[in-house]
Amino acid sequence: MSAAVFFNRTKSRESTIALDEQGRRAQELFLALFEGTSAAVLELDSAMVITRANRHAYELFAMSAEIVGTPLLQSTTSLDILELALVAQASGDALEKEISGLGPQRRTAVVRIIPKSEGAVLIAQDVTDLRRLETVRQDFVANVSHELRTPLASIRAITEALQEGALEEKPVAERFLGMIVHETERLARIADDLLVLTRAETGQLEKGRFDLADLAREAFGKFQTRAEKAEIQLEAHLPENLPISGSEDQIEQVVVNLLDNALKYTPKGGRVRLAASRHGGKVSLCVEDTGIGIKAQDLPRVFERFYRVDKARSRESGGTGLGLSIVKHIIDAHGGAVRVESTINKGSTFTIDFPAEEQ
Ligand code: ADP
Repeated sequence: MSAAVFFNRTKSRESTIALDEQGRRAQELFLALFEGTSAAVLELDSAMVITRANRHAYELFAMSAEIVGTPLLQSTTSLDILELALVAQASGDALEKEISGLGPQRRTAVVRIIPKSEGAVLIAQDVTDLRRLETVRQDFVANVSHELRTPLASIRAITEALQEGALEEKPVAERFLGMIVHETERLARIADDLLVLTRAETGQLEKGRFDLADLAREAFGKFQTRAEKAEIQLEAHLPENLPISGSEDQIEQVVVNLLDNALKYTPKGGRVRLAASRHGGKVSLCVEDTGIGIKAQDLPRVFERFYRVDKARSRESGGTGLGLSIVKHIIDAHGGAVRVESTINKGSTFTIDFPAEEQ
């Protein structure tokens, strides 16, 4: 480009004007790329001192207020980056490497060094969120396979016992068949919950306007017999007319999951209370129980997929460990918020806030 500029400038005034125009456009293009790219970009001189930095470079590396004019190592505090830059500069070839622990937020980026005739350009693409999502997905697949393996292993062991002779003893065989039914029901529940969770995560919401109090009353009705059997007092405090907008099916799932947990984790003689109210711009729904409670250290984790405070207890009561993560996903997708307060051996309160609709 610079050779062309020189050549054209010596030719005529018109071409100089045309070239100035070309130069201006090139400058505009450079600035648009430099600031518009999603990558952090640093220009380095041959002594590895930063001569230019874009906005993302400040966001990624900003260890000091000003990075232009400072040595690469001082601004990035990364020996890996310095080494990559020195090797690239010495070889004259562009080099790329994924480097972690960058900047004050310890981010991960794919760093590329492109040597120039003097100095080099560093381009760093932040991949922290991508890598975190990959880890979450891998963990999720590992968790699902672990959760499926437990009932499958039981079914296999019981079937083998039947094949090896238990089939001949009718009462034993009947008990074993009952256990197989129990385990297959568990597998079906996991499959159902996984489907609901995936829908909550990816599905388009079929939004409508409905009365949260009516929906809660209906869900409440479905639990009355179960509460009576468990000798738990079930109460509802639901006013008239609490319009919200969202997916009725999904919000019903939320209320069902919270009531189901409240009954599961409350011993005989306890009380479960479902309440809803409106304060200013918010409609709140609250499920309160006098159950076993959740330890403070477990509270932030109960919304994670497959997280259970007491695995054996959850399994025994038919839990999959997915109920609260379904609640959280649905509420997030509705622009609401869910929180929990709990005291061990006293009880738990789950509260959901929705943006209220005009009455
Ligand atoms: P699960 O199917 O195991 O009930 P959830 O995702 O619904 O899974 O809940 C996660 C964990 O949070 C449960 O295993 C339990 O340990 C705890 N938990 C949820 N709700 C309550 C509650 N109302 N009282 C006490 N513990 C609860």
